[in-house]
Amino acid sequence: MPYNRFFSLAALSLGICLPTAGFAGSDGSPVNAGRAAELAAIRARHDQTEREVAAIMKARQEEIRRERGGARSKAATGGDATARPAEPVERWSYEGETGPQRWGKINPAWAKCQSGNRQSPIDIREGIQVELEPIGFDYKPTSFTVVNNGHTVQVNFGAGNRISLTGRTYELTQFHFHHPAEETIGGRGFPMVAHLVHKDAEGRLAVVALLVESGASNAVVQTVWNNLPLEVNEPLVPIVSLDASQLLPQRREYYTYMGSLTTPPCSEGVLWIVMKEPIRLSPQQIAIFARLYPMNARPVQATAGRLIKESQ
Ligand SMILES: [Zn+2]
Repeated sequence: MPYNRFFSLAALSLGICLPTAGFAGSDGSPVNAGRAAELAAIRARHDQTEREVAAIMKARQEEIRRERGGARSKAATGGDATARPAEPVERWSYEGETGPQRWGKINPAWAKCQSGNRQSPIDIREGIQVELEPIGFDYKPTSFTVVNNGHTVQVNFGAGNRISLTGRTYELTQFHFHHPAEETIGGRGFPMVAHLVHKDAEGRLAVVALLVESGASNAVVQTVWNNLPLEVNEPLVPIVSLDASQLLPQRREYYTYMGSLTTPPCSEGVLWIVMKEPIRLSPQQIAIFARLYPMNARPVQATAGRLIKESQ
């Protein structure tokens, strides 16, 4: 990083700006030839320096852009998204100018955030009670990484954990948290939710949502908290493994509906599976996440006549 060079050039630039300020000779008085040549040389050096400073600034900006791009591709399964081929540089957040109401306007690739009519999260109510196929959870102890990606704390998995449903097999790619829970059940909110993001061979997404209640401490979450990275976008690779099956509630009834990613680009066609029984985290465990992310929940979106099914 040529900071030293940058600053010495900047100082030089400033230094020689002063003599050039009186350079115009606007009073029309004759300037002695030697002095004029000297000033011309200074001006030439000054122009050269300006060009060098501009080039260094441009190179540094490029570098920052690349660093951001790299950090984002490291967290390629960032937020709810698992496939972001052309990751935009634009920023988004949960409040103000870059908040959820503005996501669809920040980047054309995120238009669905505003125009979509199958968006998530939703308030889950008036589901039809039917006999739903049990979800075939096939999770086992697996190595993992933890990344604080600036929007949530995310646990990334290699291959080996999957669910099967309606003849499809989806691989668990990552899970992450929201505080408070994004989805509500008949208007009832929960302090947190874990979203387990799965993808099938054709790239279809299925997200299993585990609502969180305050209660006893949770061993899986404790392992994640124990391995929280100190820096944003610097994944931590723990020496222990994680068994996502230990995160699941005992009862396996669920709500299901078609929705979207709850973060930009808000892509639709996501199969949502919201487990009816909440899991428990201790108040201390919830407080740890809340300290990092006091509010990282998208508001509920219009259901717009979508069918919601729920286990009897
Ligand atoms: Zn999520």
